[in-house]
Amino acid sequence: MNLDLQVCSRARLSRDPRFDGKFFIGVVGSRVYCRPICPAPTAKEKNCRYFATAAAAAEAGFRPCLRCRPECSPGTPAWLGTSNTVSRALRLIAESGLEDGGVEVLAERLGVGSRHLRRLFLRHLGATPIAVAQTRRLHFAKKLIDETALPMSQIALASGFGSVRRFNAGIRKVYHRTPTQIRRLARNTVTQPGNQYLFRLHFRPPYHWQGMLDFLAARATPGVEAVESGIYRRTISLHGRAGYFEVSLDDSRDALLVRIEFADPKSLFFIVERIRAMFDLNADWTAIVSSLRTDPAIAARAELDPGLRVPGCWDGFELAIRAILGQQITVKGATALAGRIASTYGKAFKGPSGLTHLFPSAEILAEAKLATVGVTSARAETIRSLARAVCSGRISFEGVVDSDTFLARLREIPGIGQWTAQYVAMRALGEPDAFPSSDLGLLRALALATPRELEQRVQSCRPWRAYAAMYLWKIASHSDTRLARSSRESHKPKVAGSTLDHSVSLAV
Ligand SMILES: [Zn+2]
Repeated sequence: MNLDLQVCSRARLSRDPRFDGKFFIGVVGSRVYCRPICPAPTAKEKNCRYFATAAAAAEAGFRPCLRCRPECSPGTPAWLGTSNTVSRALRLIAESGLEDGGVEVLAERLGVGSRHLRRLFLRHLGATPIAVAQTRRLHFAKKLIDETALPMSQIALASGFGSVRRFNAGIRKVYHRTPTQIRRLARNTVTQPGNQYLFRLHFRPPYHWQGMLDFLAARATPGVEAVESGIYRRTISLHGRAGYFEVSLDDSRDALLVRIEFADPKSLFFIVERIRAMFDLNADWTAIVSSLRTDPAIAARAELDPGLRVPGCWDGFELAIRAILGQQITVKGATALAGRIASTYGKAFKGPSGLTHLFPSAEILAEAKLATVGVTSARAETIRSLARAVCSGRISFEGVVDSDTFLARLREIPGIGQWTAQYVAMRALGEPDAFPSSDLGLLRALALATPRELEQRVQSCRPWRAYAAMYLWKIASHSDTRLARSSRESHKPKVAGSTLDHSVSLAV
């Protein structure tokens, strides 16, 4: 854990939002810890202690500030490059907390000893795995108290405290107030209709919201997803229940406004974490752009459109199906096919404007006759094989610990090659360095002929090549709009060394 104290100090004194969530400040006298953007009067430097994570501040005996609400800060940036084990562990904790078996089980899943895991956590995050999990749980409970009207008994369960008694005790110990007293302090008192929850999820600026929206809009599966008047919305299903969420930008607060309608509040933590991943809210632009600047073409685009994120997905299986459909055809063509699959095989859903279906499950697609909706027989077989592998448990998109093993298994399926695997790694696993180098849009953006040349060219953008890909697609789309559109449909890929597995990828 290497915090540059001078940088921290400058960021704190200027309340620089780009550093929000990258470190926390413990104030010695008040024993409170704050975000760098805290509106409270700044403490004297000699009274400040700096921590890389909220959990580290908590372990050192500091309480979360009630004004700047550390539970609202953007997440810890990706730790890739410092420790793969830590970033994998953080991903698993984000997916399921530490409820099922604690540190021992977590360490076992990661293939390391629990003492080693503890040491790694202390070195990189300044806190033990238990402290990290407990801080996340406490922060989420605090968010539910402040931002929802859920009864406290439900919050206790939704945030993983197990019992109301433990929840009350946990909150009192940290905040010196009861949950009810904390709720009275909260400014947000607007009650949402039943089963609806409104959250503000913060990011570190800049965030290129329009770029995110354009990307999702071009690929929105009709009936399952819709983009309208600056709002992205989609249907979701989880543990046999259905619902939807919508996301829009709250520019003035460096946050996304998320409205979730779902009948089971116990799933809220999971849903919120998935939305955070889908909209890439943990990204640390300052770190990313310093790598992107090493390439002149990407640097120029990043200068014009700062803050582009890598769009994730709601469901890895659904995204993989989309990727298979997108092999060798335009984004528009693949989107139309996905819509037909959803309306033919998906469950009907009564949602707001544009939402009519849930995306079909693996069980349904394993048996689906996809030729009837216009999918070629080879691709239909690939989809069925993937669906069968998911049904049998051979492939699971949840709790992926080792991306390389996961992607190798994915590539065992006939019709899934390097392009599809890298695209899935980029958008479903959130691998910041994934890069589908055989993509025609990417090659065209830099006027290169082979994936190998492209890989050499973006070498300097590591470990952030997924972001480089987003900028290259943007470059390609800008030149596409200038080029004759007529070549689009008749375009035949002629990429040396490419297989059937790549995309024409005419991104927006
Ligand atoms: Zn504060």
